[in-house]
Amino acid sequence: MNILSGKKLAVIGDPIEHSLSPVIQQAMLDALGLDCRYERIRVQAGSVKDWIPTAAGLGLGGFNATMPHKADLVPLMDELSADARLYRAVNTVVLREGRFLGFNTDGEGFLRSLLDEGIQAKGRRVAVLGAGGAARAVVLKLAAVGAERITVCCRRPEKASELTATSPVIHASDLSRQSTDAVLSCADLLINATPLGMHGVGTDFEDFDFLNALPPSVPVCDLIYRPLKTSLLREAERRGHPTLNGLGMLIHQAILALEHFADRELDATAMKSAVMDRLLPLLEKKP
Ligand code: NAP
Repeated sequence: MNILSGKKLAVIGDPIEHSLSPVIQQAMLDALGLDCRYERIRVQAGSVKDWIPTAAGLGLGGFNATMPHKADLVPLMDELSADARLYRAVNTVVLREGRFLGFNTDGEGFLRSLLDEGIQAKGRRVAVLGAGGAARAVVLKLAAVGAERITVCCRRPEKASELTATSPVIHASDLSRQSTDAVLSCADLLINATPLGMHGVGTDFEDFDFLNALPPSVPVCDLIYRPLKTSLLREAERRGHPTLNGLGMLIHQAILALEHFADRELDATAMKSAVMDRLLPLLEKKP
């Protein structure tokens, strides 16, 4: 039986208008022939605790969460997955028999996007730019699957102390040229987890000379998917590095979320293709 039949799904956030989750999830629900609508619900910052008791009354089978609710949801769940507990953030909530089950699919989604490109995380020395929520999920997942060394390069390395305390393979460094050169020269994967270069943010890296320290053919990954090719990826490509944008992570975290909602495994290739058909025209459109 389809457990989503007659149910709705949604994404909550504030702001929420820009969220691509409805496009992605509806594309998959339609491809699966499931009679289920996926909506956007604006839940004001700081008010998710008051909203939660109303969720079941809305006919929801589950929901995704984006900024600023991911951390606030943690203490409100009846159960937490190991990843949600580890990242202290929830991006997927399943409502089942009156219980709220919290998951986080960001780290696993990122890992699957690497695997799609044939990149194994195990044994890698990874440099991560940024220490926010996305970096946290990516770094902790990479550590969990056996990356050899992960260095978080950020403006205030003391902010990453919580991350470095989690595992002996996680280190922090500042963003001075000397420090980034030292980290990048030993790295065999570079990940940008800052919003620098993202559409609508208005700021980008001042220059890309730091890429000169990266050994040739080391993959460069940007978690940003809008634009599909950031200046960082363009510059890395020009220097001969394989590149990867954040689209794979975005889609894989969504597939994993729908697997939780529907309580079954999905064909990731078929889901990806259904999503791409609807998403690419939106992402390729000039802003
Ligand atoms: P966040 O929590 O706000 O963290 C942003 C991080 O970037 C912080 O460490 C911040 O440093 C740093 N940063 C911001 N501006 C900077 C600058 N000018 N110079 C140096 N560092 C700077 O954001 P997030 O949720 O982690 O998201 C980060 C990026 O990942 C965004 O571009 C987002 O679109 C992307 N993302 C993609 C996916 C996907 O599925 N592909 C999923 C989640 C996020 P401070 O702490 O010092 O401010």
